[in-house]
Amino acid sequence: MTTAKPIFDLAGRRVWVAGHRGMVGSALVRRLEAESCETLTIGREIVDLRRQDGVECWMAETRPDVVIIAAATVGGILANDSHPVDFLYDNLVIETNIIEAARRVGVKRLLFLGSSCIYPRLAPQPMREDALLTGPLEPTNQWYAIAKIAGIMLCRAYRRQHGCDFISAMPTNLYGVADTYDLAASHVIPALIAKAHAAKVTGAHEVEVWGSGSPLREFMDADDLADALIFLLRHYSGESHVNVGVGTEVTIRELAETVMRVVGVKGHLRFDTSRPDGAPRKLMDSTMLRSMGWRSRVGLEEGLRKAYAWYLSASPERH
Ligand code: GDP
Repeated sequence: MTTAKPIFDLAGRRVWVAGHRGMVGSALVRRLEAESCETLTIGREIVDLRRQDGVECWMAETRPDVVIIAAATVGGILANDSHPVDFLYDNLVIETNIIEAARRVGVKRLLFLGSSCIYPRLAPQPMREDALLTGPLEPTNQWYAIAKIAGIMLCRAYRRQHGCDFISAMPTNLYGVADTYDLAASHVIPALIAKAHAAKVTGAHEVEVWGSGSPLREFMDADDLADALIFLLRHYSGESHVNVGVGTEVTIRELAETVMRVVGVKGHLRFDTSRPDGAPRKLMDSTMLRSMGWRSRVGLEEGLRKAYAWYLSASPERH
């Protein structure tokens, strides 16, 4: 399939990546190096994105043409459940502050990011964009989901009321370079990499996996995602949010076996069924994105090797 002609040119634009230190933000900064645009970033010690006046001053001073909202409070199943205020309040105010300030300074394109957990727990699989708000959410991540659904609605509302060209993308479960490896806060991939590596170093014969191992998940490398997001900025303008996924899924058991192979550890998996499984299945229908001509380039095993290499390099004592 041929890709349609871009509708927006990034060349010479000032692009603010909000949340540039996170996994997605840092992947975007790397990806933007290949474009002839100027990338703007600001650390949280200088501008707290939860404070509206700080955000408005920064945007009035720097006048970005394009804004990507990769800033968010994110975390795995346990963190979400135990810190509901951080997930709901932080995400609501960050998106509200940035979107309103973007309108005020006349930002030309804004891309808001959420995730697949915006969809109902039992949404028909694969989940299409129109499954939004058709049923109850998965309770373990409802706080984050509600905040992100509000963000999608804000982009739609600003399009309707103010004619702003603000769009939203909903990535599937992500992993990659600069992921969070704190076991209490992390998602499953960094958790399994850290546990498999610990087993390798200590010679343990067992790696603990939460839940039954049967939930199905789709995983996407953050650099692959960044490429899709730049593609969307160039090619898409519309009210609907756009799913961003790779189109394939694995069980948590299969994922754990692949991580064991990548880390190079022999041993068996022990499933701790006292831990929650979360949603039984989460696969995005990314037909909309694919029909625009974008294709994923990073397979799961290749992406896991890259993530594990980064994990080792981030702390040399792990070798
Ligand atoms: P989710 O996709 O929102 O459910 O978030 P997670 O990435 O935290 O969890 C995905 C699945 O992996 C769930 O079924 C978890 O129970 C399972 N899982 C297995 N082992 C782990 C682990 O060590 N940490 C986390 N966070 N999840 C795990």
